[in-house]
Amino acid sequence: MAQPDNKKFFENLTGAGKSIAVLTSGGDAQGMNAAVRAVVRMGIYVGAKVYFVHEGYQGMVDGGDNIKEAKWESVSSMLQVGGTVIGSARCKDFRTHEGRLKAAHNLVKRGITNLCVIGGDGSLTGANLFREEWSGLLAELVQQDLIDEEAAQKYSALHIVGMVGSIDNDFCGTDMTIGTDSALHRIIEVVDAIMTTAQSHQRTFVLEVMGRHCGYLALVSALACGADWVLIPEMPPEDGWEEKMCQKLSATRSRGSRLNIIIVAEGAIDRHGKAITSSIVKDLVVQCLGFDTRVTILGHVQRGGTPSAFDRILASRMGVEAVLALLETTANTPACVVSLCGNQSVRLPLMECVQMTQQVQKAMDEKKFEEAVRLRGRSFENNLRTYKLLAHRKPESELPHSNYNVAVLNVGAPAAGMNAAVRSAVRVGISEGHKMFAVSDGFEGFYKGQIKEVKWADVGGWTGQGGSLLGTKRTLPAKYIEKIAEQMRKYNINALLVIGGFEALECLLQLNEARSHYEEFCIPLCMLPATISNNVPGTDLSIGADTALNAIVETCDRIKQSASGTKHRVFIIETMGGYCGYLASVGGLAAGADAAYIYEEPFDIRDLQSNVEHLTEKMKTSIQRGLILRNENSNENYTTDFIYQLYSEEGRGVFDCRKNVLGHMQQGGAPSPFDRNFGTKIAAKAMQWITKKLNESYRQDEGRFPFTPWLRINNCFWRRKDEEGDPHWDSWLVKGCRELSHVVLMNVKLYIQHL
Ligand code: ATP
Repeated sequence: MAQPDNKKFFENLTGAGKSIAVLTSGGDAQGMNAAVRAVVRMGIYVGAKVYFVHEGYQGMVDGGDNIKEAKWESVSSMLQVGGTVIGSARCKDFRTHEGRLKAAHNLVKRGITNLCVIGGDGSLTGANLFREEWSGLLAELVQQDLIDEEAAQKYSALHIVGMVGSIDNDFCGTDMTIGTDSALHRIIEVVDAIMTTAQSHQRTFVLEVMGRHCGYLALVSALACGADWVLIPEMPPEDGWEEKMCQKLSATRSRGSRLNIIIVAEGAIDRHGKAITSSIVKDLVVQCLGFDTRVTILGHVQRGGTPSAFDRILASRMGVEAVLALLETTANTPACVVSLCGNQSVRLPLMECVQMTQQVQKAMDEKKFEEAVRLRGRSFENNLRTYKLLAHRKPESELPHSNYNVAVLNVGAPAAGMNAAVRSAVRVGISEGHKMFAVSDGFEGFYKGQIKEVKWADVGGWTGQGGSLLGTKRTLPAKYIEKIAEQMRKYNINALLVIGGFEALECLLQLNEARSHYEEFCIPLCMLPATISNNVPGTDLSIGADTALNAIVETCDRIKQSASGTKHRVFIIETMGGYCGYLASVGGLAAGADAAYIYEEPFDIRDLQSNVEHLTEKMKTSIQRGLILRNENSNENYTTDFIYQLYSEEGRGVFDCRKNVLGHMQQGGAPSPFDRNFGTKIAAKAMQWITKKLNESYRQDEGRFPFTPWLRINNCFWRRKDEEGDPHWDSWLVKGCRELSHVVLMNVKLYIQHL
């Protein structure tokens, strides 16, 4: 990668003369280390002094060796470690005025006036209180002769920034908290394992997951595995749920399923506030249905293990944003919390978020459950809505009959999560009264007539399956348009949902072109982005990219670990992604790479040379290994072999090299929880959009469907720009890609060097 011009990017930001302390508090969460690492490196990068505070607030109260200056190398090799390396604790002393006075003294002694707190709402409340009391505390310290007036003046303002580390995702104001995605990974690993044994013995499993006050983990894991029933504190079941649940379980069995999964949040309650425990649920199933039923309580497993790629990236980005926030605060800026909104890091007033979080609990205590769900936020509501939509099949007699036929197909290379999207589309389509048709092998299967109706049960268990169960091909439709139109007529297809990557987009554009000659294509056309390369314009993410990233990160972790014994070794790793550098650059960010070579950012021999020099220098430090990621098409001449040979030659006597081409392992494997849910949710939305368009056209009695090439991508609809007067549709596509890579690079630039 070319040497990033970081200096220019942060031209006006300097941390010179500032001291920042970082601590982790409350319950630990995977990804906290990545946040600590980002704060340390970003802080040092802008010229500030950074301190670790060990053991949370207790370390701040006790001082001494608990507060230590951090060096660049001190945070090496901690990205992949779960929990928190600097320790966390619950601290009674910090709740007292005396404790906070001691803490203030310890900070002032070291000239620290910037505090980065990673923890839950309790920890952030404590931090805010500390900030509010700060001037009073300093005055007391002066009175007690512990500090002089000059120090009190110099350190008169304390700046606070918070990041939420909590596996429960129970904090209002952020779409995700650090640790939640990793906890979901742990849960889904267990669910996948349990499903095979449950299947063999025709068992019902009751799985209890963490969440004393928040049902996020339970809800999202239920969505990710297609559980039969879920119980969460925010939305207790209606009275009489016991009977309904048993009916649902036996209905699933009668449709041929050999297992049932019920997910119970630790804090699940009924409408009257009475706890619903996993053992109550088990006894109920045994008594009413006589099913062989087992309980699995996951407990602390959910907090353990290595952080997922998402958590590493989220925490790294938040850590950088936190330092930027500290550099930009003035004495009057209120304490802020760094949050995730959509795919952006944002800063929100800390106490407003804390208060809103507390309101959720209040709403639950007052049995205002709908309000509790609303307060949890958009993403929570959306998950709940989608779960309800998919989990409960209405009896045939209650289903509407639309007389519309909708076809769904996969195009391009397989991507994990495609099957979850198909399942969701089929089930939502059936619930809306359509006849759903599945097409095998993309447009190749289409023109050959490989089309058949699919029913609700046909897609049972698809969420957790990798690859493409429908079969997928790269064939574009233009060449076979006549035959495809014929099949459209034969099956009377009224709408088309295409799930795939860039080829899917091209397919839709070709069908759109064909509209002027074939009425058959004047129907709602819709695409869902599904490709590990994440190169579809108009969306931040594609289905499958998260699973591929996790595969890359997992392999990089192993490779890095293998180097810990040998030392002085540099690994060159080639990733997929075509011409898109997403996997290489974001994978590099999550795995802690030294450099990532990508197509979007041209590099030359001077860049390669300077990276070799950097690695040579690095080998003199305590971190004696290097990791280089190279996107497969980053440069046609500087191939992986070339880079390997160049590094081997130039590093001779200092380090030796190994290379690894990751290849198709990036496409395979079970989908990550994110890809299962992302596929499920956007497919549900796509079907709702299709239904809306079908109904609108029918009502308008136009005789044909609107000639509008709607493309459904992520959470926004994209209309062809040229219809709005912009003739540069193609250039817009290219721009979309560039913008994507720009966002990615902004992140990467911060980390790639000198790790
Ligand atoms: P989790 O979500 O894992 O429970 P949390 O940050 O909410 O994390 P708490 O136990 O509530 O966990 O808080 C952690 C620490 O933060 C406490 O032990 C205490 O030291 C400090 N703290 C919490 N609330 C306050 C408060 N109101 N005033 C001062 N300090 C507080």
